[in-house]
Amino acid sequence: MLLEKLKQVKECFWLNDNLNVNIQEELNSKGIKFEDIEDARLRLNRFAPLLKLLFPQTLKSNGIIESPLQCINTFKSELENIEKIKIAGNVFIKLDSHLPISGSIKARGGIYEVLKHTEDLLLENKLLKIDDDYSKIVNFKDFLSKYKIAVGSTGNLGLSIGIMSAKLGFKASVHMSNDAKEWKKQMLKAHGCEVVTYESDYGKAVEEGRKSSLNDKFCYFIDDENSKNLFLGYSVAAKRLKGQFQALDISISKECPLYVYLPCGVGGGPGGVAYGLKSEFGKDVKCFFAEPTHSPCMFLGLLTKKHADISVSDIGLDNKTAADGLAVGRASKLVGKVLERIIDGCVSVSDENMYKFLSLMHKSENINLEPSALAGAKALVFANELKNTHPNGIHLIWATGGNMVPENEMKAFIEEGKKYL
Ligand SMILES: *Cc1c(COP(=O)(O)O)cnc(C)c1O
Repeated sequence: MLLEKLKQVKECFWLNDNLNVNIQEELNSKGIKFEDIEDARLRLNRFAPLLKLLFPQTLKSNGIIESPLQCINTFKSELENIEKIKIAGNVFIKLDSHLPISGSIKARGGIYEVLKHTEDLLLENKLLKIDDDYSKIVNFKDFLSKYKIAVGSTGNLGLSIGIMSAKLGFKASVHMSNDAKEWKKQMLKAHGCEVVTYESDYGKAVEEGRKSSLNDKFCYFIDDENSKNLFLGYSVAAKRLKGQFQALDISISKECPLYVYLPCGVGGGPGGVAYGLKSEFGKDVKCFFAEPTHSPCMFLGLLTKKHADISVSDIGLDNKTAADGLAVGRASKLVGKVLERIIDGCVSVSDENMYKFLSLMHKSENINLEPSALAGAKALVFANELKNTHPNGIHLIWATGGNMVPENEMKAFIEEGKKYL
């Protein structure tokens, strides 16, 4: 039984047997609409002139924070060799690891919510109109410095929110769990953010962050366990991905379906992306979440249908993993319920395998990723074993983080992974 396997910290694969075949109906029944994604996309477009000004690294994309899509068939053939499998179709990678500004998938949702809050404040105070050129926001640093943004994080969300908040002029307070890497804390401090650390896990950091902002009307708390705005920021990825495939002359269809493998922590990032993809491609896309065997909170929540009412510690797991971006013991209150009849399946992956695929990715494609970003590679192996993927299908590993990892730590990751190759 799957629950037994999860308890025993074993890798396993669950296929959702409760899918709603009417995807549009399902998507529309959850209080999030296609228009909401479009609204988020247009908001990001409005902010593009400002981002171009504040972050020169976004100049060549005209102020749009987007990542490359790349074919990785050398990785594919090496993966086939070491796993002794045959994969039909092409394998691609989505390099959110290389998103500008904060180098992880959090540069989508986290930054989006900071921008949304900024716009709300400025509109309310009549400092901005929606058809203004948003580069004028550089002049509102003093105004924004009266306000504070707080967040709880295992590291990457804190980085994206802290960096963006500080750049706009906000005070920023980042509550970090014990998984958070020292270099992330130092980087935030260098940006002028307050960093509060806890000797407990992510759930505690979020709880304390939430508490600290309760009695401060100038403080806005970004709630990774509940936030619809974060979710929408992530969902914008889908339409842009469609454009990237079109630019390669690839059109996702019944004859060329897309299989997407998404590393999952609390669920907002992969959930938002999956929601967007399902709205964009309907039944021609299949989405799978991948989590560490020590922290399979979304898997557990979906399998038991208990969502945020069950934690991995309830089945005896320790929530300790090298995949710090995924070290979450209890899934989002929002995401599991929105996706319970949409998500195609879940996978749990050992730390050893994440390290192994990390080294393989480095060796075969010269792409450097953090361990979390490789969880999806194992999901691809599992999905392939089912033998019901389409021979012309496209497999997409969503690589969620990596390019800000300091060189010496990256070297250590690669060395660790070589042990398992
Ligand atoms: C946060 C994160 C994820 C997962 O996003 P959630 O919203 O927590 O599910 C995946 N990979 C990396 C590297 C991350 O930082």
